[in-house]
Amino acid sequence: MSEKIQRFLSEKRRETPFLVLDLDLVVERYRLLKDALPTVGIYYAVKANPADEIVVALEREGAGFDVAGIAELEGCARLGIPASRMSYGHTIKKEADIACARSAGIDLFAFDSKAELQKLARAAPGSRVFCRIETQGDGAEWPLSKKFGCRIDIAEALLKDARDLGLEPYGVSFHVGSQQTDPEQWDVAIAETAGLFRSLEKTGIELRLVNLGGGLPARYLSEVPAVARYGEAISTSMRHHFGNQMPEIILEPGRGLVGDAGVIEAEVVLIADRHNGATSRWVYLDIGKFGGLPETIGEAIKYRIRTDRDGGETIPSILAGPTCEELDVLYEHTPYPLPKDLRIGDRVVFKSAGAYTWSYSAVCFNGVPPLKQYII
Ligand SMILES: *Cc1c(COP(=O)(O)O)cnc(C)c1O
Repeated sequence: MSEKIQRFLSEKRRETPFLVLDLDLVVERYRLLKDALPTVGIYYAVKANPADEIVVALEREGAGFDVAGIAELEGCARLGIPASRMSYGHTIKKEADIACARSAGIDLFAFDSKAELQKLARAAPGSRVFCRIETQGDGAEWPLSKKFGCRIDIAEALLKDARDLGLEPYGVSFHVGSQQTDPEQWDVAIAETAGLFRSLEKTGIELRLVNLGGGLPARYLSEVPAVARYGEAISTSMRHHFGNQMPEIILEPGRGLVGDAGVIEAEVVLIADRHNGATSRWVYLDIGKFGGLPETIGEAIKYRIRTDRDGGETIPSILAGPTCEELDVLYEHTPYPLPKDLRIGDRVVFKSAGAYTWSYSAVCFNGVPPLKQYII
């Protein structure tokens, strides 16, 4: 946690829950990544945290933006981001949204199916398109291996179709899974991508772009490799598979840029003993799955949690959200030893909560307002 955030939290007691995000940390992480991969274009995956201040700060650093929908596109455009620095990287789009993006000047679109390609051909003729290939998602705490991406042989056929449909087959993308803890995971996808470049070249299609997706981690309960390790693994792999025919490369980090830059402060609403399981102490907070922590689904993302009473005796606790919904439990199977003397009204801090929290927060479930965000 940065000094700036510490000062913000200690200067006065604010109404909880809220997210506070230190913009300097986002810029610092961007620069680290740029140093690790100097020739790679970094497109921020806006959905991780679409706050204007983040977009503006990254724009000043020279970043591009990966938008997943029209509201994100319009948000970026309103802040002065030119369409040439945006990529519409989602593979599932309404045709009307494609047309809207096209008229806003977007010229780079993702697809992973024939029907999506046909929509693109109708609504954005002549555009540059890249095909998303499937990955295994090994090593990722939030895998993305089923819903998106096509097999490599299908990708080859689709990229040929793209040309026949009057689009420009421009490249290949993949996503090795979010919160990817293994830097070597890019290598398999890069090898497949290089193979696809070579086989399409034989048919007269010269692909130009490799989109390495997101996946860079934030620091949750387990340690993760440093950004530099990812940079080395990716550069080595690109050199190995592409040699001196290096394509244009982009990376679309979301979590890795903003995750560690923010913390959520919440409050204990109730502590109760329930004798219906192995752990009996239930700690209910004023934030849960609907208030900005849906990534605790399946206990996939395990935030580091701190309280003002840390350091003394602890007891294992089940952490739950405040709503009237049975599934609004954050951690039941992951052990969270919390201070024995924790009290109602105590503050609880979730570290590295800058990504996929504020943008996910429900509008009013149970009368709980959306998560507040302070950008400092
Ligand atoms: C969500 C997403 C990203 C960002 O993923 P992170 O794991 O947060 O870095 C990048 N690219 C695409 C296409 C995405 O859908």
